[in-house]
Amino acid sequence: MEVKLDKRYPLDVDSARAWKLLTDVPATAGCMPGAAITEKLDDTHYKGSVKVKVGPASAAFAGDIEVLALDATTRTLQLLGKGADRGGSSASMNLTATIESGGDAASSVLVGHAEVVVNGKRVKTIDVHAHCCVPKAMALVKHPLEAPGLLMDDTSVRIAAMDAQGIDVEALSINPYWYRAERDVAAELIEVQNETLVEFCAANPDRFVAFATAALQHPELAAEQVEHAVKKLGFRGVGVGGSVAGEELANPRFHPFWAKCEELGVLVFMHPLGTRELEPSGRLGGSGLLTNTIGNPLETTIALSHLIFEGTLDRFPGLKICAAHGGGFLPSYANRSDAVIRCFPDRVGPLPKKNPTAYLKDGQLFFDTIVFTPEALRHLIAETGPGQIMIGTDYPFPWTSTEVDLVLSTPGLSDEQRVAILGGTAAKLLGIK
Ligand SMILES: [Zn+2]
Repeated sequence: MEVKLDKRYPLDVDSARAWKLLTDVPATAGCMPGAAITEKLDDTHYKGSVKVKVGPASAAFAGDIEVLALDATTRTLQLLGKGADRGGSSASMNLTATIESGGDAASSVLVGHAEVVVNGKRVKTIDVHAHCCVPKAMALVKHPLEAPGLLMDDTSVRIAAMDAQGIDVEALSINPYWYRAERDVAAELIEVQNETLVEFCAANPDRFVAFATAALQHPELAAEQVEHAVKKLGFRGVGVGGSVAGEELANPRFHPFWAKCEELGVLVFMHPLGTRELEPSGRLGGSGLLTNTIGNPLETTIALSHLIFEGTLDRFPGLKICAAHGGGFLPSYANRSDAVIRCFPDRVGPLPKKNPTAYLKDGQLFFDTIVFTPEALRHLIAETGPGQIMIGTDYPFPWTSTEVDLVLSTPGLSDEQRVAILGGTAAKLLGIK
């Protein structure tokens, strides 16, 4: 597994002073969170517990650090860290840091380039939760632009952010804003949108794939749209909201859509649209942006719970759905869904074929990594399985920029499991070579 990271940091000191600071290896290591050099063997060899960090990504291991190069002329420092973590993974990080002159005499830039290799394996890191937009389609229903970062006319900033985060490929999706559009408008909108998504991906085929869009409010049309998208346009996945204009995804009227997704074998990326029904009550108002902070994962929790309890997942056993934000709150409290069947047998039913928690593990449901801490990701994996997890960044929304780091620092995973989460599972599901 190998991850490449590039990052530029502006510094407020002149380049000579910055270089002096950088060459003080114990001090430089001391600036890295979690790093401690315990022993200096000689001028270029150190021992320690090291967390090498460049920008948002880091690799942590106990081992040796060797200074491979220290070139005062080019002001370049090259460090090689090697070691093993407690799980038996071997890891190495080759870090090159160069001080460049800044815009004026009193400033400079630290340019970091790092490559992380785990057990010598190379993996393509794939982000399954990355947003974009197609303004031409939005104009058809006068939908406003939510954030400039969604635009794809200049992808250089997006690709630089991907490089800094160690992301090789983004699977682009568009949050549904068209679920209340009439059939004719919805048909035109989806056609324009899907064709433009194909153009986005074709312009950078190594960096982007996309989830097709579909007008779920017209389920038969949506089934045709996803069939066209897969068979004619080459999509391998389709995006859906967590509800459709107030209707649950488990509503039987959506069965034709699910049947088509199952038949085509496409991955469905499910992203919440918030819980708008709660908003008029004011309960999600006030401080905390609760419409998003709680509202989004809550909608995912409700949608998944209905898909399980209403038997949708039983009816379409080949369906594969990836839920955003680690599946919302459901994996954190899934055992309550089993408990209600035991504790209130007269008040539930008809019942799904399996215990609700089994659906989190049995290969129909997948989850992204947006749960913020190694402990949270460890728990999500304990409830779902390492094969059900894929990286999500929520780009361009700034919830996180450290998902590769998160996967590398989550305890209890084998190298194979880390490789699967970083990109192996997404590559299989989305047909990325
Ligand atoms: Zn998102």
